[in-house]
Amino acid sequence: MLTPVQTRYDKLGPRLAENLRKRHFEAWYFTDTQDALDKLYSLVPAEHSVSWGGSLSIDNEGVQAALGKKGCTLIDRDKAATPEERVELQRKALLADTFLGSVNAIAESGEIVNVDGFGNRVAAYIFGPKQVVLLAGMNKAAKTLDDAMVRARTIAAPLNMQRFGDRDTPCSKTGSCGNCTSPDSICSYITIMRLCKPRGRIKVILVGKDLGL
Ligand code: SF4
Repeated sequence: MLTPVQTRYDKLGPRLAENLRKRHFEAWYFTDTQDALDKLYSLVPAEHSVSWGGSLSIDNEGVQAALGKKGCTLIDRDKAATPEERVELQRKALLADTFLGSVNAIAESGEIVNVDGFGNRVAAYIFGPKQVVLLAGMNKAAKTLDDAMVRARTIAAPLNMQRFGDRDTPCSKTGSCGNCTSPDSICSYITIMRLCKPRGRIKVILVGKDLGL
């Protein structure tokens, strides 16, 4: 028997995908995570170079292993031996054929909001890679663009900060956003993807589950 959360996601998800398509994103909704992953794999040809930014809201290692097995060339910044090499790999990722990622919030009207510390993730989302494939749990949905901004800034960012251990930011110490300007802030670049241009370059796979932060 479906839970109320699942029932709501199954009602809202297809409408959200439709609103994304009206903004020229490609978009799909899947109830099941494996169906969503199968869609992701079908979108990435074996000859593509592939990179990713932060969490995919899913098992990153599993996705990377599957795409590597398929024959894709993986550009993995976590394989860097030095900080300098890591930056070089992040620069190379900007020209990957496929860039994978997730979102911090999506308005029901179809705008996508992200918050980024160094900006490499949102830069790739906006321009560079031939295609961007975003996988997002329906927990990322917010009613309006204003609500999506609130989710990204006051829920997703303080949650994501907890992954980095003790940092010199209010959210690291208290769990609540203090709208800081700390050098440790992960909220340097706040983007709204209002439309996808060129049409279809950004593909959004919605999953009727609570995935990621
Ligand atoms: S306290 Fe700073 S780093 Fe933390 S969520 Fe707010 S702006 Fe971002």
